[in-house]
Order: sequence, then structure tokens, then C-alpha cells
Amino acid sequence: GNAILSSYGTTIFEVMSRLSEEHGAINLGQGFPDDRGPADVLEAASRALLEGWNQYPSMMGTPELRQALAGHAKRFYGLDVDWKTETMVTSGATEALTACLLGLIDPGDEVVLFQPMYDSYLPIIRLAGGVPRYVSLKAPDWSFTRADLEAAFSPKTKLVVINDPLNPAAKVFSRGELDLIAEFMLRFDTLAVCDEVYEHLVYDGRRHIPLMTLPGLRDRCLKIGSAGKTFSLTGWKVGYVTAAPHLLQPVAKAHQFLTFTTPPNLQAAVAYGLGKDEGYFADLANGLQAKRDRLSAGLRSVGFDVLPGAGTYFVVADIASLAAAAGFDGDDQEFCRWMTAEAGVTAIPVSAFFVENAPQTCIRFCFSKKDQVLDEAIARLRRRF
Ligand code: PMP
Ligand code: GLN
Repeated sequence: GNAILSSYGTTIFEVMSRLSEEHGAINLGQGFPDDRGPADVLEAASRALLEGWNQYPSMMGTPELRQALAGHAKRFYGLDVDWKTETMVTSGATEALTACLLGLIDPGDEVVLFQPMYDSYLPIIRLAGGVPRYVSLKAPDWSFTRADLEAAFSPKTKLVVINDPLNPAAKVFSRGELDLIAEFMLRFDTLAVCDEVYEHLVYDGRRHIPLMTLPGLRDRCLKIGSAGKTFSLTGWKVGYVTAAPHLLQPVAKAHQFLTFTTPPNLQAAVAYGLGKDEGYFADLANGLQAKRDRLSAGLRSVGFDVLPGAGTYFVVADIASLAAAAGFDGDDQEFCRWMTAEAGVTAIPVSAFFVENAPQTCIRFCFSKKDQVLDEAIARLRRRF
């Protein structure tokens, strides 16, 4: 096979989900909710399907969804977006990311990546001939410094990829951190691909700040979202890109050869969903925040060091002291396999999100599960530890 793709194994999410099934474990690895999702959005999809929204829609997405995206950008972020030239619908954020990276990167272009990073970024950057430059965020708060950016940016930097809120770290970038990134983007004349799939999954009264809203960055950022996360329907794979016309055009060139379109019945339902009232979005965040607190308290009671987090579906736990107490002597990958087999609970090793300088004692738990499932996971861990 292709030399770059052949250098990768199967993605860690698939590996751990299958291992979890084999052991009949509670799967707090792969990030997906275990509820049914909002009933009215499901009804909108089934209605659209039966009404006959089942042929190829237009390549850029249905007008209804694109208008809803512009409305959402205005309502939540005060952004004025022209739906006809600045929005595009994709088959999940995964395709949006791929289209952005393939559409914008030429061989030899440098790309700044913050580690930990989602696993699909690097293979696509490499396929496009891009050269990765890493900023390694430091636990427990996943911080970085001006010196880190000085080392990563260069006159060859084409773009930076930012995932905010950050999977797996659950970090929500502060305004000060975003300002620092903005300063480097302007100094080195770069773009940013902004993976903001967890934009509505932000807790503790904090608000998501799209990088695109910072001074000078409106026409340098490509903002990516996912209906999977916003409506707790991860299997739907409806994503979207919002960007200035001159940035969106090359991305659409890639999109037309990747998937071309996305199921129109699902687009109709997502258009409906994006118009839901404030209460829906507040309830989503409040419900998940309560689950984060429930799982975090349980993990602490068992002896895990739970790191602070303010967004996403995830909490990260440092296993160093607990593993030592349990006489376990392996890295995070081995620990996750062992915990699946021995305790019947699955998590994801955080080192899978690094290519260098990986921490070896951090694992990620997904908390977007029913309370009884979270409680049973804690009960199982308590029996083992
Ligand atoms: N980016 C990040 C950071 C994610 O966690 C996910 C979830 N799998 C995606 C992108 C992909 O989203 P989608 O399922 O819409 O392709
Ligand atoms: N985003 C989810 C996670 O990080 C699912 C990823 C996947 O299955 N590719 O767990």
C-alpha cells in the first residue's frame, strides 16, 4: 500500500472499542454518547427521508443547512457569514479536516500542530507533503509558552491546526493563549484550521471563543464544526466548514473529489437542530458538565489523579500513583489494555495523541454515558484497585 498510510496501524479508537467488546468491558474509550439524541432532530431526519430528500444535494450543502450555519455563527459568535460563499457541508468533521488540509497544503509547507492532537491530522498532512512542527502542551494544564511558538513557527509555516476545546486534554484555550497564537499567525502570515467540533461542550460557565473572531483573523481561519457532537449523534457524520471565500474555494476542490455530498435528509435535520433555542445548548453543556463531575469524583475516590478540564466528552487521569500502588509497571497503552481485561473498564491512552514527548502515565475517559454506566464503571474500578 501507500508508504505513508502503511506506516500507521489501526486507529486507537477502533482498537480499544473492539478490545472492550471482547472483554465485555464498559467502554469509556471512544468518544460517543450512549443516549438517543434529541427526539425532535431525529424526527426531522425521518420526516425528510420519507418526504424524499434522498438524491444528491448540491455539492456545497443544502441551502437550508448553509443558511442555518450562517445563522448559528451570528447568534453565538456575532460573526457575519455569507452562506453562499463562506459555508460548506462535509461528511463529518473528519472530511472537513481532510478537505482543508489537502486543499491548502503544498509539498514543503510547514504545519504547526499542538500535541496532544487528534489522530487524523498528521497522516493527511503527510499525504499532502506538509512538514509537521510540534508544540507539545504540558500537563496538568496543557500549557505552552511564547518560546514554544518561536520554535515551531517559521517563514515556511503555511498553517496551524488548533483543536479547541481540545480532545483528549479537555483544555479550553484562554483568550490570552489565543491572542498569542494570533500574534504568531499575523507575524508569519499563516492560516489556521480550527477544529471546533466541541464548541458547545464547554463547562464551568466558560464560553468558546472561535479563533476566527480575533482581530485580523476573520479571513485567516477555517472553522470546522460537527453535528455529531452538537446533537449527540456521532454516527451521522455531518460536518461543516466556515471560511472566507478565497480559503473555502480550494477546500471545495478537495471536497468534490472526496465525498462530493452528504446525505440530504441528515442535512435537513441538522439545519432544524441548529435553529433550536438557547435552552437546548445550555442543557447539553449542563448535562455533560454534571457527568464530568460525577465521573471525576468517582475516579478520584478510586485513587486516580484527575486533571482539570473544561470541555469535550473527556477527562484525563494520571495513573502514576495508582499504578505504583497496584504494582503495575507499564506505560499508558499497556495500562489501558490491562484495565480493560482486569477491571472491565476501557479508556484511551493519551500517548496515542503524540508523536514525540508523549506523557506515559495519562489515560482518557469518556463521560458522555448514562449515570448508571458511569457508576458501574467506578464500582468495577473500586473492586480492582
Ligand atoms: N476532531 C476531533 C477533535 C474529534 O474529537 C472528532 C470526533 N471523532 C472529529 C474531529 C471527527 O468528527 P466527525 O465524527 O464529525 O467526523
Ligand atoms: N472523537 C472520538 C474520540 O476521540 C471518536 C473518534 C473516532 O472514533 N475516530 O474518541
